[in-house]
Parts: sequence; structure tokens; C-alpha cells
Amino acid sequence: MIAEKGEEALKTAKLCNHCLGRLFAKLGRGSNEERGRAVRFVVNMERSSRGEEPIEEPEHCELCGNVFDRIPELVEAMKSRAEGIEFETFLVGSRFPEEVITREKELWERLGIETGEPINREFNRELGKAFAKATGKEPSLKPDLLFIVEPYSMKIELQISSIQIYGRYRKLVRDIPQTPLRGFKESVASIICREFSRAFGGKCVFKGAGREDADVRMLGNGRPFVVEVKRPKKRRIDLEEVARAINRSGKVAVLDLRFTTSEEASKLLSTPHRKEYLALVYVEEGVTAEEAKNVAKNLSGTEIHQRTPHRVERSRADKVRIRRVHEAEARWVDGRHFELRLVTDGGLYIKELISGDDGRTSPSVAELLGKRAVCERLDVLNILDG
Ligand SMILES: [Zn+2]
Repeated sequence: MIAEKGEEALKTAKLCNHCLGRLFAKLGRGSNEERGRAVRFVVNMERSSRGEEPIEEPEHCELCGNVFDRIPELVEAMKSRAEGIEFETFLVGSRFPEEVITREKELWERLGIETGEPINREFNRELGKAFAKATGKEPSLKPDLLFIVEPYSMKIELQISSIQIYGRYRKLVRDIPQTPLRGFKESVASIICREFSRAFGGKCVFKGAGREDADVRMLGNGRPFVVEVKRPKKRRIDLEEVARAINRSGKVAVLDLRFTTSEEASKLLSTPHRKEYLALVYVEEGVTAEEAKNVAKNLSGTEIHQRTPHRVERSRADKVRIRRVHEAEARWVDGRHFELRLVTDGGLYIKELISGDDGRTSPSVAELLGKRAVCERLDVLNILDG
């Protein structure tokens, strides 16, 4: 039956051994070329027994145009396309002209083939094998490099998988915004990204798990962030060295750097975190140690209703958020100042928790005191996990 089908195929079209073997790809083991050679051998034995001429492999295959002969040249072209780019794994895809795909389908239909494999699948596999052999790199479904090859025009598109790095940052000084902002020369993002770009040789995108205002320090164990390096030229980088370079800025320090996946990264960034703050509260009318203690006692364990603050109104939806103050502790400083250490749900605006934001945040420090109160200085002491 295979010999019959094979002979019929060879009478219908001049086929190379790849294209002949591919008609029977689902049968037996080995490469399609080996299958094609074997089928042709058996066909020609049968023909010889009938005194007929053998059907040799043609100079020009009418189905593929001998595209498989281009593999060595394509491997060289892929190698030079990837020059200077560090990678361990790769994947090959290919774009075949519609007319080749159609020709193959028509052949299957005419011969009633149900054991065939599409040409691009074989081509990807064979090109991948040859490239792996030439470079020592590993084929993978989650590759560092994806080559998309147009075998007839020899066009090669190269996609470089981006790299995700997770870490936590501490902002040691005031007056740096988290991301670039008009009026500021640098940002946490620019200080961090500068060193990642230098090390990995790609463009960086910074994403923080929430943000603090420019005038707020971020201390303690730091705020989680993810850096995505796009089209990196290097992948095997000592993250400790990158951390040291960032930390030399004296303004931003990073810790816990590690490689991560984009799935894990988006989960890490969207997890809400409780936070510990230290605020310096200023009360113009004056405040006693007793009053400060009472404010802390009343805030502790209290649900706060906070309508979107005036100052961020334009960039956030106007709604009332309910967030809890888990802990509050006061330390009287002088007649007009006291410190407030707070542990709150993520997403509570602390400056407004103190000022009351014209009644938009309730209860607030100002409301509890019955006096105007403002946040004079604020630090995030810790971002609490879990
Ligand atoms: Zn062919």
C-alpha cells in the first residue's frame, strides 16, 4: 500500500525525498528524508520487477523547490543575525508561501494521504536541528531567541525574549519621584534602569508595586518592583554587581534581586501590601502629648473612609475607598509636632489621613484633634508581606 501510494505520488509530481517521505511522516521512525529514500527504494524495486525504469530523485522538486538544501545557508544567516547576542535556547518558526502550502494540500487530497506532515513543521524541525548542531544551543518552547524564517526570500526575523527581574528598592533621600516627572532630574526608575540597561544591553521598563510621593522616603525592607529588560544582548548577569552599581548612587538601594517570569511578576505587583509609616504631624494651634496619644488610640484598628484625594483626582477614579489602620502609635515631639507610626492597609493616602482633605477622609487626625493638622514629613518604614 505504501509502495503503491508512493509510486502514484512520484508519477503525479517530481518530489525530493523530503517531500516524498513527508507523505508518510506518521508511519515509523526516522527523518522524512530517510522515509522518502526508503519508499523510493521499494517503489523502484517493484518497478524493476516489472521491467520499468527507476524514478530517481529529481534535480528540482516540484513541491518544495529543494528548499531543504538551503538549510546550511540559513543556519549561517541565523548565526550572523544572532551575533553579539547571548542566548542558551532558541525556537525556529517559518513562513511558507501560500502556493507551497496549497500544492501540498492538493497532493494529499489527490492521493488520499492521511499520514502526512505539513512542510513547515518538517522544515522548522530540520532547521532547528542543524542550528543546534552548529551552535550547541538548545531548542525550547520558551526560548531566549525566536527566529522566524522565510526560507525562499532568506528573510530572518529575530525576536529576543525579554528578561524580568524582581527586587525591592529603598529610597534613601527625599525629592526623587518614583518615575520620571517634570521638574526632577532623576527618578527611582531612572537610577535603577540605567544600571540594568548597562549590564544587559537592552531597554528597561520599571514597574513598582504601588508608589510613594516624591517627598517620601522608602525605607526598611523596600518596595517590590519589577524591571523588564527588552531585547537584551546579555542574559547571564551577576545581579549582585548590578545591585552594587545602583547602590553607589547613594539615593536608591536595591535588595533581593532575582530573575522572575512575567506571570510571577504581574502577580507580585498586584498583591496589596500593608505598610508601616512614620509621619511627622504639625499642628499649628498646638498639641499636647495627651492629645497625640488619644489620636493614636482612636485610629488604631479603625476603618477609614477615604474619597479620592483632591491632589490625585485627575489621575484616579473618584470613589470612596475603605481602608483600615491596624496600628497607630504617637510620640510627642514638641508643642506643635508629634510623630505617628502607622500600620495600614495598602492604598490608604497618609497625607490625607492626617489633614482630612476637607472632610474627604474620615476619620482623620485633624478631625480627631478638632484642629488643623498637616503631614510635614513622611517615610515608608516597611512594606509588609502576606
Ligand atoms: Zn521537495
